[in-house]
Amino acid sequence: DAPILVVEDLSRHYTVRRGLFRGTATVKALNRVSFSLLPGRTLAVVGESGCGKSTLARQLTLVETPSGGHLKIAGVDVALADHAALKTLRPQVQMVFQNPYASLNPRKTVGATLEEPLKLNTTLSQAERRERVARMIDIVGLRPEHVRRYPHMFSGGQRQRVAIARAMILQPRIVVADEPTSALDVSIQAQILNLFMDLQQQLGTSYVFISHNLAVVEHVADDVMVMYFGSTVEYGDRQTIYSLPLHPYTRALLSATPTIRLEDRRAKIKLQGELPSPLSPPTGCAFHTRCPYAIDRCRAEVPPLRPVLGRLVACHRAEDVAAEEEVSALQEG
Ligand code: SF4
Ligand code: MG
Repeated sequence: DAPILVVEDLSRHYTVRRGLFRGTATVKALNRVSFSLLPGRTLAVVGESGCGKSTLARQLTLVETPSGGHLKIAGVDVALADHAALKTLRPQVQMVFQNPYASLNPRKTVGATLEEPLKLNTTLSQAERRERVARMIDIVGLRPEHVRRYPHMFSGGQRQRVAIARAMILQPRIVVADEPTSALDVSIQAQILNLFMDLQQQLGTSYVFISHNLAVVEHVADDVMVMYFGSTVEYGDRQTIYSLPLHPYTRALLSATPTIRLEDRRAKIKLQGELPSPLSPPTGCAFHTRCPYAIDRCRAEVPPLRPVLGRLVACHRAEDVAAEEEVSALQEG
């Protein structure tokens, strides 16, 4: 299968004012990120808020224009696409947001909300549109009478079902979901994750699933990309990343996630301090200000993203981290 989404060296820089008399600065919100995604597969993009996940989402959904690199959707390079080509590409990538209440128009019934993308993007008749809406309502686990109701009449989980139905109604090839369960009660989160997975099974949609929480994505991800400060720090398949995380930042995120049973022998890493200010990025490895493994070299040299033990990782000390794990495994017997 050819990838449905190919991202190469994608960057997004913003020019920001530093204050009244200090001129402007360039913030590298997204820094040469690369990945590819096959049809029907899920990439989880994980990191703290401010790591570049949402910036990435805005490039993927064609809401913003990247500063550099390439974005290919269904084989079409977005930068080279003309107006007509973009018009057919746009509906192929849909977004589900964190807060379903904020993303739904309170004055529109669910039926009208779901019909709107069909009106804008298809030549279906009204009867055909209504039929498509009814089918989608059923697929996402809502009832036929729900089409006449307004968003405030639903629970948070139901509203997210509506938002998912709206994203899916054009049968997009790719759905970008930005923290789609983090505003929901814990008891509802699993239902919504299961819905995402059912829809993927039925429709073959590819997902870019954005989260700050490695536990949430463990059950949905095929591949995992961990981002820090606008860059990819670790990228590989789920099994590889969860069974032997090598980047100290990935390990810190896993340590912060009580529901993932980190082997007891694995030293927990507590994330210290805050993300550095994007206005004064650290030299060398951006994570060195918070990394318990940091050495002098880390402050001087940017670690390249390179293959180590079956995944890509950007850390000078990835081999040391792996060796440490082996030693503690031996000690355990
Ligand atoms: Fe830590 Fe150095 Fe690796 Fe960066 S390169 S994650 S500072 S050990
Ligand atoms: Mg965000």
